Amino acid sequence: MKKSKKPPPPIIVSACLIGLKTRYDGSHSLDKKLVKFLKDKPFIPLCPEQLGGLPTPRPKSEIVKGNGVDVIAGRSRVRDEYGRDVTTAFIRGAQEVLRIAKYCGAREAVLKEKSPSCGVRFIKRNGRTLKGAGVTTATLKKAGIKVKGAG
Ligand code: SF4
Repeated sequence: MKKSKKPPPPIIVSACLIGLKTRYDGSHSLDKKLVKFLKDKPFIPLCPEQLGGLPTPRPKSEIVKGNGVDVIAGRSRVRDEYGRDVTTAFIRGAQEVLRIAKYCGAREAVLKEKSPSCGVRFIKRNGRTLKGAGVTTATLKKAGIKVKGAG
């Protein structure tokens, strides 16, 4: 009998990048180039902020100082535009993404740049783009998962 080839592990992808309306304002961030790249690959679209229990639409949030690495180390917080502390939801969402990634054997993720959850090289604060990772990126990287930015 012919041995069946093991399928490659799935890639974790920010849900908004493939056109799902998961963004804080109920819109998406469709990245057509990424969709083309994923066409013949297994992938899992996830939104950490939804997985953390936040609604859609939801108020915009920002990491108050530093970046996601500081949030998961307990040195910083995430607040929404009304000043409410949403750190617990952001950390819970990141942990859920990590749990799914481990369950599926994913070793790679493509996440949406500039988001306080998904940002890879950049996040935004007070309307400015700053270097730094979001909470989910920091969580996945700490667990050894390779994360690339898109969008
Ligand atoms: S950037 Fe991340 S948290 Fe924000 S909508 Fe997209 S998947 Fe959800």
